[in-house]
Amino acid sequence: LHLHYVPLVAQAGQPEGALIVIRDLTQISMLERARRDLVANVSHELRTPLASLKLLVETLQSAPPPDIAGRMLEQMAQEIDAVTQLVDELHELSRLESGRVSLKLAPLAVGPVIERAVERIRPQADRKHQTICAEALPDLPPALMDSDRIGQVLLNLLHNAVKFTPEGGTITVAAKVLHITVDDPPSREDRPPHPAGTWVLISVSDTGIGIPSRELRRIFERFYKVDRARTRHAGGTGLGLAIAKHLVEGHGGRIWASSQEGQGSTFWFTLPAA
Ligand code: ADP
Repeated sequence: LHLHYVPLVAQAGQPEGALIVIRDLTQISMLERARRDLVANVSHELRTPLASLKLLVETLQSAPPPDIAGRMLEQMAQEIDAVTQLVDELHELSRLESGRVSLKLAPLAVGPVIERAVERIRPQADRKHQTICAEALPDLPPALMDSDRIGQVLLNLLHNAVKFTPEGGTITVAAKVLHITVDDPPSREDRPPHPAGTWVLISVSDTGIGIPSRELRRIFERFYKVDRARTRHAGGTGLGLAIAKHLVEGHGGRIWASSQEGQGSTFWFTLPAA
């Protein structure tokens, strides 16, 4: 609270009263804090690739043998890609947060959207000898969605599944229908409450490192990464899930995760059936 006191003095010089202004700064200081956190996170995320670039340039200045120089240039390109991804994702998130993204909603079958995303991620999964399969039920109702945006959500989840699953693991994408009645009973999947109605439920499961249960909610916050030391080499901005959450909620759906550490994780999201 911010308190301001002004004594009111009458003409004769006698105090006549006081004007007290009390301002509730909770909202302002929360916004200020969010802004400070964002700046701190962005600076932190930029410092790492910039420090490696600086080091690589300095080493290249000493004219190392051509094969080493070649590898260093490759590494520089990767660091530049990382910075570019961070800037792109920040821009995307800021557009989403300020409501500057409009969804082109249409009733569409989820099967083809899932298949397209799976085919796009397959080369990455192949490189890690991972099996990836999609099981969409044939009699699924269409979902009301912007297929490009939902494709982006799926790619994001699949990208994480590949990244956090060791060689030889399995990634499964599934879709089913979910009927929610007025008294939505709690489910095995820790599903957040949904308004009554028919939903299409899409899941991406992996047999990867898993996520500790106390972190399951926080991973959707921007820049949140579980155990930075363990995932450092995995790369990534920590913005992917925050973007996915915005997109799914923009469709009226929910997104959440369940996991068993060391066994694997499942990410779930719902879309309203058309
Ligand atoms: P990142 O760019 O780091 O992948 P995300 O927002 O996509 O950012 O994910 C946030 C964090 O959630 C990741 O850094 C990781 O710690 C955790 N995470 C996401 N997906 C998985 C998964 N499939 N298995 C294990 N951990 C995951």
